[in-house]
Amino acid sequence: MKLTFYGAARKVPGSMFLLEFEDGYQALIDCGSEVEGGGPLQEEFPYGNFPFDASRVNVVILTHAHIDHSGQIPNLYEDGFEGQILCTSATLDLTELLLYDAASLNARAVKNVEKSRKKSKKTKGRETRGLYLSRQVETAMENFVPIAFENRFRFKDDGYVTFYPAGHLLGAAHVVIEVKEGGEWKKIGFSGDIGRKDFTLLVDPYKLPEVDYLVMESTYGLRNHEDQGDPVEVMEKIIREACIDVKGRLIIPAFSVGRTQCMLFTLNRMYYEKDIAPIKVFTDSPLARASTKVYEKYRNRLNRAARDFYEESESLFDFENLHYLESNRESQLAATHTEPCIIISSSGMIKGGRVEYHIEKNIENPYATILMIGYANEDSVGGKLLSGDQKELHIRNKKLAVNAKIRKTDIFSGHGGQDDLLAFAQNQNPERLKKLFLVHGDLNAMLNFKQILNERGYADVEVPARYETFEL
Ligand SMILES: [Zn+2]
Repeated sequence: MKLTFYGAARKVPGSMFLLEFEDGYQALIDCGSEVEGGGPLQEEFPYGNFPFDASRVNVVILTHAHIDHSGQIPNLYEDGFEGQILCTSATLDLTELLLYDAASLNARAVKNVEKSRKKSKKTKGRETRGLYLSRQVETAMENFVPIAFENRFRFKDDGYVTFYPAGHLLGAAHVVIEVKEGGEWKKIGFSGDIGRKDFTLLVDPYKLPEVDYLVMESTYGLRNHEDQGDPVEVMEKIIREACIDVKGRLIIPAFSVGRTQCMLFTLNRMYYEKDIAPIKVFTDSPLARASTKVYEKYRNRLNRAARDFYEESESLFDFENLHYLESNRESQLAATHTEPCIIISSSGMIKGGRVEYHIEKNIENPYATILMIGYANEDSVGGKLLSGDQKELHIRNKKLAVNAKIRKTDIFSGHGGQDDLLAFAQNQNPERLKKLFLVHGDLNAMLNFKQILNERGYADVEVPARYETFEL
């Protein structure tokens, strides 16, 4: 069989790997976007939206819902794919939310392009290529098939797939594919995104069975996380400094799916366990509210600590003084709420989304604190704030002074640190493992992690380039 790396090769986004078996059957593992929200696509391909013929792919195996793993699925159907999408049931529910959200962002982008075309009288441009709408998402969702964790599912003659909890996001999985070729069984493992041990809400990443080939992520190949320990302690300290010692506002840019639920659960626990005044918390993202409902639906799949807490307090994400903001008007009122408060809003990188308004209204206020809790691209507003030496900021066509306090914590990062990655790799027998491929990381993180693996006896570690194919 052949394995080709179509994305997340020597970089983080766009996970997409194609397995072509000897009998001609093709399985695509993940079908992710390179850019947040979806399109437009950066490149033009002879076949349409993909560098391969989508109509020849037979099945998609999806590790988890994040858009950099799922965001191109609707375009596959546009290009003639007729197969099913196999994933866990929580991944199905979260992917549905994320793809419709991407479609509504796309609809807005298409409208803007059309408006500017009318003005400049340009004929068809390339800016809308790959911008699927809700109609395409609907077609895709009809073909999702939920598969239970640890269920060896037959997807083709002499071909099985098994999903194992990855601890990275609700429903997220490591995947093992088994196929018989030339009378011999071969096992290929795909790590998906690897979670952290003792992480908020989620079970620890499962031990992957021994495989012959392993494709694994390497986001944190360079280091471990800076913040360790109990997130309640970390948040209590930040909230005391931001909202109690000074009566200020705390703005938390956060991805709506996963990150926001970790934050709400932590605040719920903090108010329950600590003697701290119940400060108003605004959750300002309709997508966050919908994904919180999915987390509640799969309550029994969460980790022991979360289930025990629920038994005792009868709520996971709901507490006194928590307000979900629906309309834009409510959102605008919260941005200038006069009492100390906490505002959780997307996007996490401060690249679009309602959080931009909250930043605009608070960045010049020395009594406001902005807490970054996740990764942000260098070119995003969040990335610029994280760089630490920003005196001024361009946001929503305004140039504003940075007077607010900027803080950060990586305690809510859903990616395993270097030690977690190493523990995952070391479940594999170096005698049996024929090749280990590193994906989903910056090149220097990959090269650093490759060296560590070599030192631990894993001799054949590849850092594949985009479009590189390997015979397995
Ligand atoms: Zn992910």
